[in-house]
Amino acid sequence: MQGSSVGIAGAGLLGRLLAWRLSRAGHRVTVFDPARNGKPRFDGQGAAGFSAAGMLSPLAELDNAGPEVAALGWRSIALWREIAETLQARPFFAQRGSLLLAHRSDIGSAERVLARLEAGPAGSPVPRPLGAAAMAEMEPGIKGPARAWLLPGEGQIDPVGTLQALHDEAIGVLWHWEARVEHMAAGSIEVENGTTHRFDRVFDVRGVGARPDLPVRGVRGEVVWLHAPGHGLTRPARLLHARHRVYLVPRPGDLIVVGASEVESEDRSAVSLRSAVELMTAAHSVMPALAEARILRLDANLRPALPDNEPRVDVSPGLVRINGLFRHGWLLAPALVDDALVACGLQGLSIKQLEVGQ
Ligand SMILES: Cc1cc2nc3c(=O)[nH]c(=O)nc-3n(C[C@H](O)[C@H](O)[C@H](O)COP(=O)(O)OP(=O)(O)OC[C@H]3O[C@@H](n4cnc5c(N)ncnc54)[C@H](O)[C@@H]3O)c2cc1C
Repeated sequence: MQGSSVGIAGAGLLGRLLAWRLSRAGHRVTVFDPARNGKPRFDGQGAAGFSAAGMLSPLAELDNAGPEVAALGWRSIALWREIAETLQARPFFAQRGSLLLAHRSDIGSAERVLARLEAGPAGSPVPRPLGAAAMAEMEPGIKGPARAWLLPGEGQIDPVGTLQALHDEAIGVLWHWEARVEHMAAGSIEVENGTTHRFDRVFDVRGVGARPDLPVRGVRGEVVWLHAPGHGLTRPARLLHARHRVYLVPRPGDLIVVGASEVESEDRSAVSLRSAVELMTAAHSVMPALAEARILRLDANLRPALPDNEPRVDVSPGLVRINGLFRHGWLLAPALVDDALVACGLQGLSIKQLEVGQ
């Protein structure tokens, strides 16, 4: 199947990963997306991939998802490591584990969550309690919480840098911007101006935009970007709370991304005062030094979710649909893309082999 023509609807996380993999494996790739261009945007209208915190949390996500999601996640972390090493831009990727934290008043609810996290796939890591001394040595900036656990093996990736690199390092891809796809069928993509483009195979990775072909809905998420020079946080930290799961994710450039609300609404408008206050209050309760951080950006976007909140890969002759990545798209994307490519006979080269022939 090498050298086949491939059409991709959607230039978000899945679309760029597919475009990069397939173009570097020698396929002729064309991508369609309603965005103005391939640059990141933070106005609530673009790909959810740009708004994500980039946590790769197969263990912590067992609080919301089943062991299949965790198993896909462990595979994806290994694939992201290879992808990040293969991309010339070397986007930030780290696998130092993450932290679960609880204030004294929330220890009961934290223990219920921990019981769920211990039910992961056979042989996968489990949360490890951390004493005060170990915690102080590991993350001296975290001062508020009474209890802490390490989630070994969890990772993180920089979504913006990775999406840019996947776009820039795809080979010979024809990117059609301002091109909303209206209809897809086996081997064909119809764009809003009425033009139909034909390919050997097409991929529908439009996220929330795949309606009505898929019963997908958007689940609003809001994040806060903080600039906090010298913050010292070296791994993602998640505060367990009876009502919220608030996480702090360090990024290069003295940044910390604090997220994320989860609201059953397709509202793409700006971040609400309530979410901003709750996220920042929780972040400050974990790292008091954040009091002097500067608020760089408030960002809101929609996570694409199917009715069962599970990811779905539908492979039929000439048409592949991948959707429902919900709150763990970064955690799942490489493994789902791999499975889809294998299922349609397109997986010819390993990630490392894609580096050759730039
Ligand atoms: C606030 C927030 C925090 C998150 N944090 C994390 C995290 O820490 N870890 C994690 O694993 N996941 C996280 N996620 C989830 C993750 O971002 C998503 O699951 C993932 O981006 C979904 O990928 P996708 O390619 O399906 O959709 P998107 O990334 O949304 O891409 C869809 C693309 O399709 C395009 N499109 C839409 N309609 C059309 C059309 N008609 N024709 C052509 N193109 C179209 C869009 O413009 C977009 O570019 C987070 C999400 C949010 C919102």
